[in-house]
Amino acid sequence: MPELLLLEAPVKENIWGGTGLAEFGYPLPSDTCGEAWVVSAHPHGDARIREGRFAGQTLSQVYRENRALFGPDAPDEFPLLVKIIDAQQDLSIQVHPDDAYAREHENGSLGKSECWLITRAGAYGGIVFGHRAKTKEELKEMVTAGRFDELICRRQVAAGDFFDIQPGTVHAICAGTQLVEVQQSSDITYRLYDYGRLQNGRPRPLHLAQALDVIKVPAVYEEQPRRERQEGNALVTVLTEGPYFTVADTEISGLWRASWQTPWACGVVLDGSGMLADHPVKKGDSFVILSPEGLSAAGRMRVLFAGPGGSHL
Ligand code: ZN
Repeated sequence: MPELLLLEAPVKENIWGGTGLAEFGYPLPSDTCGEAWVVSAHPHGDARIREGRFAGQTLSQVYRENRALFGPDAPDEFPLLVKIIDAQQDLSIQVHPDDAYAREHENGSLGKSECWLITRAGAYGGIVFGHRAKTKEELKEMVTAGRFDELICRRQVAAGDFFDIQPGTVHAICAGTQLVEVQQSSDITYRLYDYGRLQNGRPRPLHLAQALDVIKVPAVYEEQPRRERQEGNALVTVLTEGPYFTVADTEISGLWRASWQTPWACGVVLDGSGMLADHPVKKGDSFVILSPEGLSAAGRMRVLFAGPGGSHL
């Protein structure tokens, strides 16, 4: 029987945040909120289970004490982190390491692959994605001289666009853009440029040496084909299927039964409302689903589902 664990999402305050997350129904502690960690077992923002047999426990505790529920190959730590990010101002330009670099330089931490589904395009910015340096020497020169406008590639985006952000990719979210991010459960970010901004009177730290180590030169991007299928009353679009996560954007209009091959899944309702595994859910609700075989949903809603690496949604 599928079991739905509804989560309470920690909301983060950021210097670049605003109040856009209120549309998902999350209580905002201030008017500079940038991220809701909708599915998280990370120590920097562990989600709590809202009801049922694990009510009140954190997701990391449930995972630690009930590993068998997450399948025979479940890793030591809950592997995914799903965020909704709403940028009132530009985020810093950054890059993440891969597993090998993070293991060696960040106390055995995981690296960070992430992906973005754009839910609202910014009026002025979009995103920063990739760079123009042709060699490591040129990259180093441009970074050292602060020639960031020449270095970075800006892209205008539209709602529904999807980007796979491999480790070593220079990226940033620009003012006005809202997106859902699925990533490895890691919080390691090397900041390359922060527009000279101050936080509490000081610039936030940059990590130029590490960033120069991990940035891939030249920047290449292979767009993955998205696979769309109509499955009864749902339009299922598989956005990515890789070693770290599988992500599907799912438009449900009526009764639908999932045909997944995965020990578990997680996700967030992006729009509308309905029933999921016999629970009423609405926009903003996030969850983990255990034993998802035979999962059924009903209603009119758009749900972003994510499963662990190697799973098929
Ligand atoms: Zn990132």
